Amino acid sequence: MRMYDIIEKKRDKKSLTYEELKFFVKGITNKTIPDYQTTALLMAAFLNGLDERETFQLCQLMAASGDQMTFPDDLPTADKHSTGGVGDKTSLIVGPIVAANGLVLAKMSGRALGHTGGTVDKLESIPNFNATLSLEQFHDIYKRSNLCITGQTGNMVPADKILYGLRDVTATVDNVSLIATSIMSKKLAAGAKNIVLDVKTGDGAFMSTIKAAEELAEKMVEIGVNNNRNISALITNMNYPLGYNVGNSLEVIEAIEVLKGNVKGPLYEVSMALAGELIHLATNKGQDVCYQLAIDSINNGSALEKLREMISNQGGNVDVIKDYTLFKQPNETIKVYSKDSGYISDIKAKTIGEISMQLGAGRITKTTPIDMSAGIILNKTVGDYIDKGELLATLYTDKKNLPNIIDDFLKTITLSSNEVKKVKTVIGRVTKKQTIYY
Ligand code: URA
Repeated sequence: MRMYDIIEKKRDKKSLTYEELKFFVKGITNKTIPDYQTTALLMAAFLNGLDERETFQLCQLMAASGDQMTFPDDLPTADKHSTGGVGDKTSLIVGPIVAANGLVLAKMSGRALGHTGGTVDKLESIPNFNATLSLEQFHDIYKRSNLCITGQTGNMVPADKILYGLRDVTATVDNVSLIATSIMSKKLAAGAKNIVLDVKTGDGAFMSTIKAAEELAEKMVEIGVNNNRNISALITNMNYPLGYNVGNSLEVIEAIEVLKGNVKGPLYEVSMALAGELIHLATNKGQDVCYQLAIDSINNGSALEKLREMISNQGGNVDVIKDYTLFKQPNETIKVYSKDSGYISDIKAKTIGEISMQLGAGRITKTTPIDMSAGIILNKTVGDYIDKGELLATLYTDKKNLPNIIDDFLKTITLSSNEVKKVKTVIGRVTKKQTIYY
């Protein structure tokens, strides 16, 4: 078999056989196929698509390209995945809630990518928190407790690491089949039985339209179902940042505030919906019952207690839960005041993510260090009224020379003289049986 012929076949819009896909995945993993041929095939697949069978088989082959996690069959293992957003700290809320409800969430999470944040970076803003656990530590912790979140450990899905790295620099990321195989290969390898997907749509998301988000959600759910997982997806709004805080320690603080029951609004709503859905998948209890169980674990403090347990098990300083000054503090605090009065009708999520990166909260290159205290606290959100001169946001950074940052920030906000409707946060739900919109 020759890679040349495989590329030619896909270029000519033909389906690749299982044997050809296997040759490709094996070749990239053992590095016998050079990057230029891999990227040629990626571009052909991007332009001409992969059919359902190809998508399904490519995903399984990728999942099996490295180590795969296994858990005892009787454990109610749970996992959650978000397609990435700005201010999205739902894993820090959903994890403790489902653990408080008896599920086992032993999860490998990602780091920040472009303008979107990563759960592992956020957790590492907690002093001494260890998010680079060995496989032994990972197994030991989830057996003792039922909540553990770490960065990738072992050699999981090496085929995706290679493909994602090449897609990122060859304009071949935004293809539904390639995204679905990339995400689901990692979910299958991570081994959980129950999986909830948070597929974001809007300005700050990979999938900017609801139709594209639906297509991605349906594809991923189908892959999961075909691999015997209990899986569903919620389509959620990422036109605006999720919640008020963007930046690593700032997002951990907001997640703690939600777990303390002090914050409601879009972040709370999305988190409760995801947690309720995951409890429903794992227990088969009614959706409404599970949604209420999620809320109860906030109200009775059990979810916050689970977060405390996880921080302690992973070596972090649990005192941050009551004293936020224990997080690294920024050198500079920049207050941004509104130049006009009106109702906030738009906050550009992607630009907010980019400004947060500029402040130091994200990675400009893979190796750029992150400033854990950098970021933004929004004082207002979409639908709120603001007076001229009122505080709109506070920016935190260690950088001194950011001359245009206030103007750049103000450009992300649109004001309207008319009252603005509150935003719908959970837009739709995709299960193996149906797709519904709320
Ligand atoms: N996230 C992934 O893990 N893979 C993609 O292809 C896109 C987003």
